Amino acid sequence: MVRHVSRRAIQGVLLTAVILLSDAPVHAVPARHGGRVVVTYVQPSDPAHREIYRTLRRQRVLERLGAVVRLVRLPGRLTLRLKGCGGEANAWYDPESHAVTMCYEMVAGIIALAPHEASAAGVTQEQAIRGPIAQILVHETGHALFHLLRVPIFGREEDAADQLAALLLLHLAPAQARALVGGSGYFFVTLGRQEAVDRSGFANVHGLSWQRFYSLVCLAYGSDPRRYADIVAKDYLPPERAATCREEYKSAAYAFERLIGPHLRVRLHRGARLRRAWQSRVP
Ligand SMILES: [Zn+2]
Repeated sequence: MVRHVSRRAIQGVLLTAVILLSDAPVHAVPARHGGRVVVTYVQPSDPAHREIYRTLRRQRVLERLGAVVRLVRLPGRLTLRLKGCGGEANAWYDPESHAVTMCYEMVAGIIALAPHEASAAGVTQEQAIRGPIAQILVHETGHALFHLLRVPIFGREEDAADQLAALLLLHLAPAQARALVGGSGYFFVTLGRQEAVDRSGFANVHGLSWQRFYSLVCLAYGSDPRRYADIVAKDYLPPERAATCREEYKSAAYAFERLIGPHLRVRLHRGARLRRAWQSRVP
């Protein structure tokens, strides 16, 4: 039986968490679901990371993400970890230890790239920090879900993890979704402006930052062309790409329903627009 994942259901799943660096209180995360998710903030040895450590801990960033992950039935334990990485600005999922790690150095890099004043596109400093932290943590958690749930993947896993992350962020409350997409988009654009478009970039397992930006805003526009009409109106997304974004979004949403949906603890029902979109793809 095909269960339809409603927008509301996904909101319940992810949102609860809601996410990352949001000041919103964490609620509606049923403790009875338990789940084998462990969160760890490793005390930094570099004094420059102490404020980041304290802030992320105070904001319960990993707990919020963990609350989302616990709504998925995992076959094993998953660790979500923030730690210092000896100068390496990175984030990854380790399939051996079943751990998602984000380095304080990566958070510091995000903070360094954030604008002091709102950007030309209206992205605030806070959004430019929260957006990429959320996108990166959810992206890495996506790798973990693919691995732990043995999710089959066509194409590059990095693209699939980006799609899953975008889908999840887009199902937050509309204002939060927009803020996180804006902040994450700002991050990709800023990286893209610094990135050499050369052979090593083309060979990389990740798409180029500009490609990751366009895929993100395409899914946002495709998720709700009216709500995100400004993405096209302000020419952040060329009309040639915008023309296929509704289908790209439906495809990602359908993959979520079929591949992740059966592992969710929450009952998936009702759901208006998203369900209608998905139904059009369900045989
Ligand atoms: Zn990745």
